[in-house]
Amino acid sequence: MIRAVIYCRCSTEEESQKNALEKQVAEAESSVRQYGWVLVDRYVESRSGTTAKGRNEYKRLFNDLLTDKFDVIVIKSQDRLMRNTKDWYLFVDRLCTEQKKLYMYIENKFYSTDDALITGIKAILAEEYSRELSKKINNAHRNRQRDGGNVMLPGNAYGFKRMPDKSVALVEKEAEIKREMYRLCAAGYGTRTISTIMRNRGIVNRDGKPFTSSYILRMLRNPINKGTAVMGKYHFDFDSKRTIKNPKEKIYIHEDKVPRTVSDELWNAANEQIDKRSVKTKDGEDDIGKNPGKYQLSGKIVCGMCGQPYWRKVHRKHSNHELIYTWACSSYLELGRSDNLRARPNLRKVFLENEKGCDNINIAENEFYAVLEEICSNQYQKNKKKIIEKIMKLLSKSLNNQDGTKEIEKLEREQEDIERKMKFLVDKLIDGVLTDQMYKTKQEELEKKRDQNKKKILELTERTSNTQNIKDRLQEIETRLNDDDLFKKATIDDMLEEVDKIVVYPRYMEIYFSLSSVTGCMDLKIFDGDKKCFRVDYGNRLDYKGRQCDAREVVVDLIRENPRITGKMIAKEIGCSLSGANYKLKVLKKEGRIRFNGAGGKGCWEILE
Ligand SMILES: [Zn+2]
Repeated sequence: MIRAVIYCRCSTEEESQKNALEKQVAEAESSVRQYGWVLVDRYVESRSGTTAKGRNEYKRLFNDLLTDKFDVIVIKSQDRLMRNTKDWYLFVDRLCTEQKKLYMYIENKFYSTDDALITGIKAILAEEYSRELSKKINNAHRNRQRDGGNVMLPGNAYGFKRMPDKSVALVEKEAEIKREMYRLCAAGYGTRTISTIMRNRGIVNRDGKPFTSSYILRMLRNPINKGTAVMGKYHFDFDSKRTIKNPKEKIYIHEDKVPRTVSDELWNAANEQIDKRSVKTKDGEDDIGKNPGKYQLSGKIVCGMCGQPYWRKVHRKHSNHELIYTWACSSYLELGRSDNLRARPNLRKVFLENEKGCDNINIAENEFYAVLEEICSNQYQKNKKKIIEKIMKLLSKSLNNQDGTKEIEKLEREQEDIERKMKFLVDKLIDGVLTDQMYKTKQEELEKKRDQNKKKILELTERTSNTQNIKDRLQEIETRLNDDDLFKKATIDDMLEEVDKIVVYPRYMEIYFSLSSVTGCMDLKIFDGDKKCFRVDYGNRLDYKGRQCDAREVVVDLIRENPRITGKMIAKEIGCSLSGANYKLKVLKKEGRIRFNGAGGKGCWEILE
């Protein structure tokens, strides 16, 4: 019985076609049937994913190659498994050593090692070609940046326009709006307030949309507005296929490169204001748009109430300057709460007209992590032992061939043999069987062999003791794997990689998984067959305001039981401080829920329904 698996992935061109992936799966399965094989698993990549990140199923297949799960992999064509030369060779190498077969149904043939060579060479050539190309482009960029050639502005850079001679000019109407933003900022308004003011005045960007506070911040920070072009801040690295920040010495600064929108004085005044407000990280950069948090959550959290993404915010605690990270709905951050009058009216300078924000909860990052960790430890704890065993097996397998004990024993026996022969030679010399010359030649020969062996034994002993070190390392790794914290982190990262989005509501969240992972290892309670998501209720655990509200309800209940209750008694009953209890009473009074009848210490509470 031949066991087969299928691996399916859509190429970038195919992705636009409808049902391309489903079609591929059906075709691959039909090939399996045609040959009378038994289908044991499907590896279906839901996203195109040319990067390692988007290819969970590829990784799973690559790992399963090491197991005795299947004999043949069925794919559409070779390019399904190729993303770069190195990975392709690693894959083929493992395929061959594990003696498995690869079948390509489009060409109707099995893969052979000759194919690997040819496609490998082709791929190397193609990669070399584009690497050269990218080098040339990078060099051209750098020369232009160093010599202060024309400033490259994105086509829609607000406030600027490109002239026929490739120079840059101001769009006066837009420049004036930017100047106004600088003036407001220098006057002490935060970017969020500036955004609100602009909205109220009906000022929009070139796309007809309001200016967001994040855009305003970036704009204010940009030295191009005082005429200075900063060039070469980033370059594209071909090998990692990423845009990478250049070191300071590689950045070129050209003053008076474009016409000034604002004066140096105004630019500096505005930026000083921003500096005052911003929270700096270690390297002195604004901590915006970065997520140095424990887990990569960016882009995954979505507001269930308005559909906008959640953003990560950082601020300092007043009491001890500790950094606090919170996640908040972006439409709340841009527009505030839906009822502007209720949302901290004493703190807001400017109110938004005609637009509604969002009332969803802000989430303390720590709390959110704790919720995720609980989910994961429930999901993965069962598999933990299995996973550790698997890892250890893999690691030790790669180390076994380093052990030279047997080889050393063999060499030592040879050494004894040589010593015996040498003694034998001396006997023959004494007996007069050998001439001095013959003895000398033979003796030298044996000595040479003996020294060579000695050297070999030393080498092997050293290597073997290294193996001992590695064994100790393995032990250490195993201990660390058993460490719950490490496991938690690994499994949450693992889980998040498979999570499409997390939709947040005030009392619960829904975690949506990508199609591929659901067929995988997790036995989730999927409450809706099609949705591939599961729901986590957390009550008011993430909702500070909600908790406060509930605590006040408890106070009302306490008063109902005992109208003569004092602040001290309330504090004792609900386990908070006296000032906390008094504050709750104060809020309830302000809300018109309760009233104190009497004066001083004498009197009682009345509940006003
Ligand atoms: Zn929202």
